[in-house]
Amino acid sequence: MIRLPNTLTFRLSFWYTLVVIILIMIGFNASYFLLKKTLNQNIEDDLIEDIGEFQILYQKEGLNGVKREIERDVKLGEEQNLFFQLFDKNGVQIYSSDLSHWKFLPNNQHIIKQVFSTKKPVLQTIRMQGAEYKVKTIHDLITPDILLYTGESIEEIQDIMSLLSTVFITMLLIVTPIASVVGWLMAGHAVKGIKEVSRIASEIEKGKLDQRVSVSAQGDEITQLVNTFNAMLDRIWILISEMKEMTDNIAHDLRSPLARIRVTSELVLSDDNTPQEFKTSASDTIEECDRLLQMINSILDVAEAEAGTFQIPKQKVNVSQLAQDACELFEATAEQKHITLVCRLESDCHVNGNIQNLQRMLANLLDNAIKYTLNNGQVDVVLACSRQNIEITVVDTGIGIPESDQARVFDRFFRCDQSRTHRGCGLGLSFARAVARSHGGDINLTSSIERGSCFTVTLPIQ
Ligand code: ADP
Repeated sequence: MIRLPNTLTFRLSFWYTLVVIILIMIGFNASYFLLKKTLNQNIEDDLIEDIGEFQILYQKEGLNGVKREIERDVKLGEEQNLFFQLFDKNGVQIYSSDLSHWKFLPNNQHIIKQVFSTKKPVLQTIRMQGAEYKVKTIHDLITPDILLYTGESIEEIQDIMSLLSTVFITMLLIVTPIASVVGWLMAGHAVKGIKEVSRIASEIEKGKLDQRVSVSAQGDEITQLVNTFNAMLDRIWILISEMKEMTDNIAHDLRSPLARIRVTSELVLSDDNTPQEFKTSASDTIEECDRLLQMINSILDVAEAEAGTFQIPKQKVNVSQLAQDACELFEATAEQKHITLVCRLESDCHVNGNIQNLQRMLANLLDNAIKYTLNNGQVDVVLACSRQNIEITVVDTGIGIPESDQARVFDRFFRCDQSRTHRGCGLGLSFARAVARSHGGDINLTSSIERGSCFTVTLPIQ
């Protein structure tokens, strides 16, 4: 069995050719039948017209005039194409043209009787015995006592129609291969963009992640596909870069505590330590391990929050109470730095959410505000709620964030240069933003260097 190629190009060009052939066939059939009908109608009209002329002629010149006209008509036409017969009321032939070519005219006595009694013409299309062509005939009265039976071969029509069929078949034989080639070229052009996308996809599969499909003047759908494909590649590229940056940062942040643990352990092994020194080394090691664990937990929390897999129980959380607790918790730390902590909290603001994560989000913002504010500064926490949102604003008079860093402070592990001297690992804000977003809200930041920062959390109530 022949296996046809299962490519899109082949299928498109096949369907294109088929549609062209079907359209040509419909067009041909319509014109064939229309033409045939018109030509047949013309002959019938001619026959009816002839009857009218003979009626007038009879009135003017009598039977002899009619006979003369018949002879003239037969001479002008070809006698094998035309015949005339005149009948009286009894069905007896009173005159006829040369009927040597019309020997097999069917018996028409019943029609003659019918026309004399109804006085209505009878039009027929007959095929004579052994004749190649059909004949159009008419029986009609030229006077109340004389009937004219005349007919004309439709040889001409049949010749025209068979010529038309030959032209159609020839045209089909010429057009079909042309349509296939045109269809093939058009299909090839249409799928060029798709082929390019699949070529780039296979290049990427081999590891060339920087490849992109060039956008040429293709059809809209292909351009859209190419743009979406390129956008997807850009997104993958960004994710991979972020992942790489993150693993670099993790490696960097893990290295220092691990190095410290190693140094402490080497000291324990090499020296003769007193029991007190052993204890100090052990507690240093525990402290470093706790820091490592805390960092790893933070990484996991942020990853979980960003992936949107946080379970948000339908638990009604009193955010006013959470903010009040956070203010109380950080009061002592603020006092140590002589920072004035002012909390203006609207009461009874609720959302459905995860209480622990919201708590940690507020704690991160307050911790940062106090951490990055110099002694004697001020931190304001304001909470307001409307029908739609809860808005929590944490404003400080601290060191501020340079404009160039403001978009990046929410990225994992990002730390501004001027805050390197403070403790931290650059995960607090990414966690806070992930929590806000997982509750359908977001965090905004405005800041100016050495004047302070303002973080605004918006949480939708529904
Ligand atoms: P970190 O553990 O370093 O505080 P965060 O994710 O909480 O990590 O913050 C990221 C960085 O954003 C910080 O290192 C700091 O540079 C900057 N930052 C965050 N909050 C403030 C603030 N209130 N004032 C100034 N800088 C801030």
